[in-house]
Amino acid sequence: MKDENCIFCKIAAGEIPSNTIYEDGDFRVILDLNPAAKGHALILPKEHCADIYEIDEELAGKVMKLAKKLAVHMTEKLSCDGFNILQNNHEVAGQTVFHFHMHLIPRYKEAKNNDILMWSHETFTPEEMAAIRDQIQYR
Ligand code: 5GP
Ligand code: ZN
Repeated sequence: MKDENCIFCKIAAGEIPSNTIYEDGDFRVILDLNPAAKGHALILPKEHCADIYEIDEELAGKVMKLAKKLAVHMTEKLSCDGFNILQNNHEVAGQTVFHFHMHLIPRYKEAKNNDILMWSHETFTPEEMAAIRDQIQYR
């Protein structure tokens, strides 16, 4: 299903031009308009879903398989030194376009902005850690 107000739906459908590096029945993979690094790309499902909470589990699995293939391919072609695969959900987590997308970010030792994904740390007591562990234990 397509959301008429969603820019990534339009890009995924080919209605808005993009630098496409891969396309199949489920996905279009495009270069990010404001790349964090040379080759920064986005995997866009053609089906509209806003985020990880909405995406179909099977499609989410396909996203990861494609990310794996493209990471290998892009690393070979770009001769990058490492790779980030990341995906933001909701504004507080940095999401700015509310159509699920997976970032593929090649990383280069010589890049000047290598702190782009550094974060500061929070501290929890051992008791708090145990409570958090119990809270999110998944069975
Ligand atoms: P988010 O912050 O939601 O995880 O990532 C959105 C990404 O989409 C950003 O990196 C931004 O540069 C990129 N972006 C936003 N609008 C467009 C667009 O119209 N075309 C392309 N190719 N990338 C876009
Ligand atoms: Zn959409």
